[in-house]
Amino acid sequence: MQVFRSLIAGKWVDSASGKGLPNINPANTDDVIGEAQLCTREEARKAVEAAFDAFKAWKQTPAPARGRILTLMSRLMEKHKEELAQMITREEGKVISEARGEVQRATNVVEFCAGETRRLNGETIPSELPSNWAYTIREPHGVVGIITPWNFPVAIPVWKIAPALAAGNTVVFKPASNTPATAVRIVELFKEAGVPDGVLNLVIGSGGEVGDEIVNHPAVRAVSFTGSTEIGLKMYGEIAKRGIPFQAEMGGKNPVVVLPDCDIDLAVEHTAAGAFGSTGQRCTASSRAVVVDTIADAFVERIVARAKAYRLGPGADETSEIGPSVDESQFNTVLKYVDIGREDGATLLCGGNRATGDGLENGFFVEPTVFDHVTPDMRIAREEIFGPVLGIMRVKDLDEAMAVANDTEYGLSSSIFSNDYNSITRFVNEIESGMTHINSPTTGGEAHIPFGGIKGSGIGPREQGSVALDFYSGMKVVYVDHTGRKRGGNLY
Ligand code: NAP
Repeated sequence: MQVFRSLIAGKWVDSASGKGLPNINPANTDDVIGEAQLCTREEARKAVEAAFDAFKAWKQTPAPARGRILTLMSRLMEKHKEELAQMITREEGKVISEARGEVQRATNVVEFCAGETRRLNGETIPSELPSNWAYTIREPHGVVGIITPWNFPVAIPVWKIAPALAAGNTVVFKPASNTPATAVRIVELFKEAGVPDGVLNLVIGSGGEVGDEIVNHPAVRAVSFTGSTEIGLKMYGEIAKRGIPFQAEMGGKNPVVVLPDCDIDLAVEHTAAGAFGSTGQRCTASSRAVVVDTIADAFVERIVARAKAYRLGPGADETSEIGPSVDESQFNTVLKYVDIGREDGATLLCGGNRATGDGLENGFFVEPTVFDHVTPDMRIAREEIFGPVLGIMRVKDLDEAMAVANDTEYGLSSSIFSNDYNSITRFVNEIESGMTHINSPTTGGEAHIPFGGIKGSGIGPREQGSVALDFYSGMKVVYVDHTGRKRGGNLY
């Protein structure tokens, strides 16, 4: 059985904790992938110290030389694309086509960050004083803590680690405890690409112990987190006391607004893809369809038919369209929300059960589920479920649709289906979300385009695109005086 260890100061270490966590294929619980060794707080501390010791030399490495290592990493990821994708599917459960897409996106991010190392530019600024000028330079923070969730176990770590390294930081990376295999493999590839010892450290371990140590260690000078809003806000409170840069990408309750003038087949197909794709385990998943009354019956009839037509199965089977929930706990959460939806008075139209059938017996499969007549006060309209569950919220017009769509603590993604320019423009202006899509699903993004949310979905600068480097670097202003003379007058 494979054992997943942590990487500290360039060495794969056996943890002194003696604690292991089995890594299990969620599509088939008989398939035990291996066991993760869980680090202690003391080991996390050692990883931070290793990153601290490696910082000076890495900072002094010319940025384009750091970029060359990232270029090699992107080539290694291309080379190992299928292996990484199969690993994601086995460990996290998503279907293989989605896993391949995830690896490609991560590879694109690394490629983009390699290019960015050649333009970590500052500004030159003329001075008010004669023979004086000023310029700005970007500087890395030092040790950066990176804490990630399980749902994109390759893409999310990579889209944080690559810009952190490009900017000259050293990294302590803590992956989700239930996806250690992919975490180990991407760190191995970074090492093979030439990242020096201590520059990238991996600590596998529980959030409460290892994660907490990273967040609170004084040598950690910035933290980038992706995960639930609950944990992100808790972490924000702790980090605020230390006054260091913090970035959090958190949960979502993403609305799809469907207007009567839309192409209904397109709206149904894309809403279903957003709601049920990746088993609904995307922060950008469509969980609320806000549909104007006059088109609602037709939309509901079609989306239920679409939901029932999905082929569920192990992600490694090329014909499967929807895989399992990531683990038993997530599976139980989804079924619990089905009960809550019923109790709160929503109408269950399809799904809502453990999926059964050939090849599904040993996995955490939930039927694609559609509730109708969901109202804004219901918990299934307000809380992130993170499963293949869509709530239909009927409204009388665009005014009510906007009010309902924005009636949420979250603000990650959204979309509208309409062919009316004025309605679309109004939606874009009024929707409270960090990203929005017109006539396409709430999900998806590209390596060079900023990604992130507002309200309870995001804190701090966005990830990806050139702006990603803004989080991973600070600015130093340099004043240059060529006069060689003492100054008179007021200086402030
Ligand atoms: P989670 O429970 O919040 O965990 C995220 C990470 O934080 C894990 O590595 C976890 O470690 C760690 N952690 C937990 N408690 C901690 C603590 N007290 N101190 C430090 N670290 C701690 O989230 P998840 O269940 O893995 O992921 C699903 C969530 O991620 C959903 O809410 C989803 O919307 C969100 N998400 C957001 C985005 C986005 O870009 N907005 C993208 C993807 C996912 P353990 O695994 O050891 O518990």
